[in-house]
Amino acid sequence: MIDSFGREIKYLRLSVTELCNLRCRYCMPEDGVCKKSHAQMLTQEEMLMAIRAAASLGITKLRLTGGEPLVKPNIVSLCRGAAETPGIRELCLTTNGTLLPKLAIPLKDAGVNRLNISLDTLQEDKYRFITRRGELREALDGIEAAHAAGFERIKINTVLIGGFNDDEIPALAELTRRYPIDLRFIELMPMYDSGDFGPEAFIPYTVVTEKLPMLEALPGDGGVAKLYRLPGAQGRIGLISPVSAHFCAECNRIRITADGKVKPCLHSSDELSIKGLNEEEMTEVLRQAILRKPQWHGVLSYSQRSQANRNMNQIGG
Ligand code: SAM
Ligand code: SF4
Repeated sequence: MIDSFGREIKYLRLSVTELCNLRCRYCMPEDGVCKKSHAQMLTQEEMLMAIRAAASLGITKLRLTGGEPLVKPNIVSLCRGAAETPGIRELCLTTNGTLLPKLAIPLKDAGVNRLNISLDTLQEDKYRFITRRGELREALDGIEAAHAAGFERIKINTVLIGGFNDDEIPALAELTRRYPIDLRFIELMPMYDSGDFGPEAFIPYTVVTEKLPMLEALPGDGGVAKLYRLPGAQGRIGLISPVSAHFCAECNRIRITADGKVKPCLHSSDELSIKGLNEEEMTEVLRQAILRKPQWHGVLSYSQRSQANRNMNQIGG
């Protein structure tokens, strides 16, 4: 469907849970989430209904996210249902990877086409610090498991954090030489409660091209990342700049949160509820949400924070 600014909206990000087994400092508070009652969250049937409704409006790409989607007990059957939805041509999932050793094969069998795995550092102590509880080994084992399960074009998502991992840009980029994976550096977004990062943490994507002058620019692939390759590398490096150079003109997505709110824009507080609706009503709300997509999300910076009024684990990224 075409929105009010001529953009074709064909990508749905559905957050399947707010819960997570990690507590990344930029994403959610240390004490986790104030657990909502089951009655407030979308059921699996409602999620599948919302996916069908979205597909009827022209959505062809679906990403399941969270919180951590793999902590959801019924995630494999949800993926199967999503993959079988007529009109959905690409089913992707974003995960911290730690539960992939157990789930990579069932997810592949259920019809998941692509995985994005989050990894901000290659150092054990820093991984423990940024996730407040995770073990680097588990995330690396998850990447191995995804590879072994036959997932292709795996993407690693790295949030760029000044003073934390900017010194690791070359080491992280080297992963694209060793493995056929794409690595994407994403600028840190100033969310409602994204930890106690000071202004120095919000560094622009250009830091990567400064640290890696040998990067060769590649043509875009229709996504939001500016693409590069290290000479001779198997995988690509993508730079995603939601803060320093927004890509709202190319925005093709709509989001649904686990508690059933359609978000026309990641950084706006505007939300429309689909909880408790039937498929026809959901379709109409989704249509309204697409028409309510703003032209852009306004300035984002350390002092001008996202207006979303939610942390990232309650949206999905
Ligand atoms: N738990 C899964 C994971 O970590 O991949 C999926 C949900 S997580 C909210 C989705 C993505 O959002 C992750 O790649 C994470 O690094 C990113 N993210 C979370 N908070 C962010 C922030 N403040 N700025 C930029 N990216 C953020
Ligand atoms: Fe959990 Fe993902 Fe947020 Fe980290 S980024 S706390 S893994 S939801």
